[in-house]
Amino acid sequence: MKIEHIGIATPKIEDALAFWRDALGLTVVHTEEVAEQGVRVAMLPVGEPRVELLEPTHAGSPVAKFLEKRGAGIHHIAVRVDDIRASLARLKRQGARLIDEEPRVGAEGCLVAFVHPSASGGVLLELVEHAHGSQQAVNGEKKS
Ligand code: ZN
Repeated sequence: MKIEHIGIATPKIEDALAFWRDALGLTVVHTEEVAEQGVRVAMLPVGEPRVELLEPTHAGSPVAKFLEKRGAGIHHIAVRVDDIRASLARLKRQGARLIDEEPRVGAEGCLVAFVHPSASGGVLLELVEHAHGSQQAVNGEKKS
């Protein structure tokens, strides 16, 4: 397993980029709107893992609710796994509460599933399985 990315909720990606891109010096390699999750994302690699900036596209979306309740900041940590269904089955056997029992399609065509923060001691965890044969912008990354 590897840390795939760290999701950071922000009311406006453009404002967040003033820090992460302009002040800190990271580069945006990918932006995308994931309509199903009501979110716009920008990916900025920090070595192999990436910072994933998350901006809600409408008021009722999960990230909008998070911002209302908790304000801007770390929203989730994503771990890359080889077989997301096997990981979900393992977590379920261990009694961990899942938000997604079945993986769904996330940014860049990856399969993703969220594990409830109550299972991990307060951290929203995202599992990510990379789509086979998909283009990876991350330097030096090998496809399985
Ligand atoms: Zn994520």
